[in-house]
Amino acid sequence: MDIQTSFLDRLFESGLLIDTGIDGLYGRSGQFEDVISAFERLIYGFGGADGAEAIRFPPGMNRALFEASGYMKSFPQLAGTVHSFCGSEFDHTSLLKCMEVGEDWTKDQEATDIVLTPAACYPLYPTVAKRGPLPESGALFDLQSYCFRHEPSKDPARQQLFRMREYVCMGTKGHVTDFRQSWMDRGLEMMKAVGLDVVIDVANDPFFGRAGKMLANNQRDQNLKFELLIPITSSANPTACMSFNYHQDAFGAKWGLNFADGSVAHTACVAFGLERIALALFHHHGLNTAEWPQSVRKALWG
Ligand code: ATP
Ligand code: ZN
Ligand code: MG
Repeated sequence: MDIQTSFLDRLFESGLLIDTGIDGLYGRSGQFEDVISAFERLIYGFGGADGAEAIRFPPGMNRALFEASGYMKSFPQLAGTVHSFCGSEFDHTSLLKCMEVGEDWTKDQEATDIVLTPAACYPLYPTVAKRGPLPESGALFDLQSYCFRHEPSKDPARQQLFRMREYVCMGTKGHVTDFRQSWMDRGLEMMKAVGLDVVIDVANDPFFGRAGKMLANNQRDQNLKFELLIPITSSANPTACMSFNYHQDAFGAKWGLNFADGSVAHTACVAFGLERIALALFHHHGLNTAEWPQSVRKALWG
């Protein structure tokens, strides 16, 4: 049995994660959620004074806006769509018959206007663009959402439905790159406060296909994405628990995020993988929070 499977099994045995029969789709216990709530308070403690506007979207987004985002160009393998039955009574009868004999009943499901949110910040850009020109001082948002990615895995840190807490900054190049740097510094401080050894390294997104290789190399060469890595299921391949993304003016241009003088805003987002951070804590400090080091408990629960 490999190490990954055994950590997942221990999480199931302890009840922290609850098996649903699907890899990457888990229930969470009260104790697991308590760690996530405590860590979110810690995040707020580090960023609350910045005055970010809090917005919460549900875990589904407007399909037309998702299409406009270009997600299907870059990550078609990860996307999840919501389909529904839209037929007549006659169609219903044949649907039930299909299910009864174990045939594929999903082939006649029709796409709805909703897709599953792939990253917490996706619904934000068109929302802010609709408000009109950005203030000269820029804008800062605090988001949290369940996100879907079709990447089933036995690695408990790679889930299909997981939560991302994000800060998103819009402004000038200098403004948003300073924002990103300040969260890299804070990320290191926060993880130190909860007793986790971390490194930050340059990274790239898993762009699809052969053309994607070039996009990934370009992203790396330009230092557009960094990750804060913590060993969870492997020390050779530590897990990305935060990411720090500079989009240049790509999202600004795509969505029409402009200043009053018509110039295009730059954007950056900083994402915390909340389940991954909780898993890193359970992995390093043990499966029972009552037995965690005093300093870690103090940082999380005061
Ligand atoms: P990875 O390289 O591990 O796939 P990513 O580059 O896809 O990570 P981002 O797209 O930057 O990650 O997402 C922001 C954060 O969300 C990540 O830093 C991570 O903490 C978390 N995250 C991403 N994918 C998953 C997943 N499948 N399960 C749990 N958390 C995830
Ligand atoms: Zn983002
Ligand atoms: Mg990924």
